[in-house]
Amino acid sequence: MIPFMDMCAVGERHRSATDRAIARVLDSGRLILGPESEAFEREFAAACGVRHAIGVGNGLDALTLILKASGIGPGDEVLVPANTFIATALAVTATGATPVWVEPDPVTYTIDVAAAQRSIGPRTRAIIAVHLFGLLCDMDALQELADRHGLILVEDAAQAHGARRDARAAGAFGHAAGFSFYPTKNLGAIGDAGAVTTDDDELADRVRMLRNYGSRRKSVHEVAGVNSRLDELQAAVLREKLPALEGENRRRRAIADHYRRELAQSRVLLPAPAGDDHVHHLFVIRVADRPSVVAALAERGVGTAVHYPTPVHRHPAYADSGAPALPVAETLADEILSIPMHPALSDAEVEHVAEAVRAVA
Ligand SMILES: *Cc1c(COP(=O)(O)O)cnc(C)c1O
Repeated sequence: MIPFMDMCAVGERHRSATDRAIARVLDSGRLILGPESEAFEREFAAACGVRHAIGVGNGLDALTLILKASGIGPGDEVLVPANTFIATALAVTATGATPVWVEPDPVTYTIDVAAAQRSIGPRTRAIIAVHLFGLLCDMDALQELADRHGLILVEDAAQAHGARRDARAAGAFGHAAGFSFYPTKNLGAIGDAGAVTTDDDELADRVRMLRNYGSRRKSVHEVAGVNSRLDELQAAVLREKLPALEGENRRRRAIADHYRRELAQSRVLLPAPAGDDHVHHLFVIRVADRPSVVAALAERGVGTAVHYPTPVHRHPAYADSGAPALPVAETLADEILSIPMHPALSDAEVEHVAEAVRAVA
């Protein structure tokens, strides 16, 4: 059986480094906001090519704190792709602002820039560009659109650690970016963790304050902040794993190339080809009759998943958001299928998955 994801196999690649990191933190006696999180913030900022990285509790908080620190709140609208993980929209809702659903591009599955432009109204304040499945959005076009309308451009980089275009990395394109280090992400912690990256000194300072009870100085609380800190254990583990990110992304690309070659003649629709701007967090194919393909693959020992079976605006949580018909997002939700993609897959496993897909789809 080749499961869709194998956290033991993925974790085993970093086991001794992880053990070392845990021991270092326990020996230090510093568990929250200490030398490990400070060092990780410096190292992750350098990896992204930005001035600031601020460790936070998770990816949802990273996005929420960016929006709050930017002054976004009730009465404001934020453009969000309809085909994302629900956290992108929940970050908007958490500020009291309203998410406005935007169609994805039918080829790249990232936010459709023309559709985003049509969705801009007098109350629009920001656009969240989700680098979905690991592929960078069309950031030049989005930045131009944001500049023209005076909007903040936020990257949801939770699936795109290390993705690059023209030597620029995910996290360095927009005004600020939110990262998640949830264990299954390309850079994963051993629990919940996240970070905000930005070149804006003032925004960085506000996020830093908000994540720690609205406090810059001990016992002085300037605003009603939250508790969303990156703990020392997670930071130490992330520091050990960060140097391996490039290599693991290369392995993901090699697996993607393999799938692409092996499935070129099959009837499944493959993801749009891409280079360094894709870190293949997921490998998502499209099939006409998904339930039968899922069952047939399971019979051949191949696990699959769907990211995501329901567009965000169709969840009960957003049932009364007055969502329009979004045919691209809805068709994608019905047809997409994620096949195994993680750096611990062996060549033989990749070969087996490709063969199984060729046989059943
Ligand atoms: C994982 C993810 C998030 C949320 O990250 P958490 O750490 O789980 O809060 C946000 N957006 C996208 C696109 C994600 O994949």
